[in-house]
Amino acid sequence: MSLIPPGQDKERGGRWMKLFQPDLVFFEPRALDYPLGRKLYQKYSKSRIPVKMTTSHNRVTGLPGETELEKYRVAKRTLVVGIKKTLDFEPSKPSAEYAIPLATGCMAHCHYCYLQTTLGNRPYIRVYVNVDEIFERAARYIAERAPEITRFEAACTSDPVGVEHITGSLKRTIEWMGQQKYGRLRFVTKYAHVDSLLDAVHQGHTRIRFSINAPYVVQHFEPGTSPVHERIEAAKKIARANYPLGFIIAPIMFFDGWEQEYTQLLEKLRDQLGMIPDLTFELITHRFTQTAKKVIEKRYPKSKLEMDEEKRKKKWGRYGRVKYVYPNEQMEQLKQFFYSKINQYFPEAEISYLT
Ligand code: SF4
Repeated sequence: MSLIPPGQDKERGGRWMKLFQPDLVFFEPRALDYPLGRKLYQKYSKSRIPVKMTTSHNRVTGLPGETELEKYRVAKRTLVVGIKKTLDFEPSKPSAEYAIPLATGCMAHCHYCYLQTTLGNRPYIRVYVNVDEIFERAARYIAERAPEITRFEAACTSDPVGVEHITGSLKRTIEWMGQQKYGRLRFVTKYAHVDSLLDAVHQGHTRIRFSINAPYVVQHFEPGTSPVHERIEAAKKIARANYPLGFIIAPIMFFDGWEQEYTQLLEKLRDQLGMIPDLTFELITHRFTQTAKKVIEKRYPKSKLEMDEEKRKKKWGRYGRVKYVYPNEQMEQLKQFFYSKINQYFPEAEISYLT
């Protein structure tokens, strides 16, 4: 498997996650019209990784694998270098006004990830090389709303840190946004590979959030991501580099010992980080749709993910889609718990929302 599993970090004596390297790379011909596309083509053509062409990043065919599951696993290790043609950005509430599209797809295997359903049968990892065109479009969105601030979320369709060592596009976006008086960037990651971002000229315009969770959730449902202690180490580096910092605790779940594990997580954060100015928390409880449940059961048949509709409350989302969320009483319990713990350990921090 090319997402090299955790190994031993001799310096720190702990587990660590290596950088993702694809097993197979596809290029759209037009990607070669752009400097980043040409650079990646040269790099992979010289490597031992097979390189193929595809007419469209939306329709990559010929992935090896006998069964649907095998093809899915191969797709998660396949990189597609293409052009973002549709430059109408999707909305990204509640954390931002727009999603900025730098990449689609992710190499990790989080069982609960909503990309399972939103990407359908195209779970391969697409990176877009027409970054300047994406910036031009973002500039127009900013101009339309100025002098109000326009926030862009870079992690709606991927984990952008997971592919940053391949493209460098996130750093470029951070520096571009640093020059935008009325533009702000934010993204969330489960990867700790942030060193290349530390010297970016960000001007405080990018908020980097780390997705963290209780050990039970990380161990059972987040294969292929950086361990939480590495994410916290990375968060410390980000705070030292004067970026606005945040944590997303998601998905929050009920399991045996949840109060104790979440308390210990917050204690660990406080002990490791100390007081951080301008710190935010976003809290997202676990939810699923019936479509997601079917997909997850096929792709991760041994998953312990609790998806019992009987234990949940229906919530209607956009386009009449039904999500199964925790019932009101449990939501209230979570709200009381997390608000009180975060206020206790991080009295200066802002809790942006619990949903
Ligand atoms: S790291 Fe994020 S984007 Fe990637 S699979 Fe996990 S939840 Fe999905």
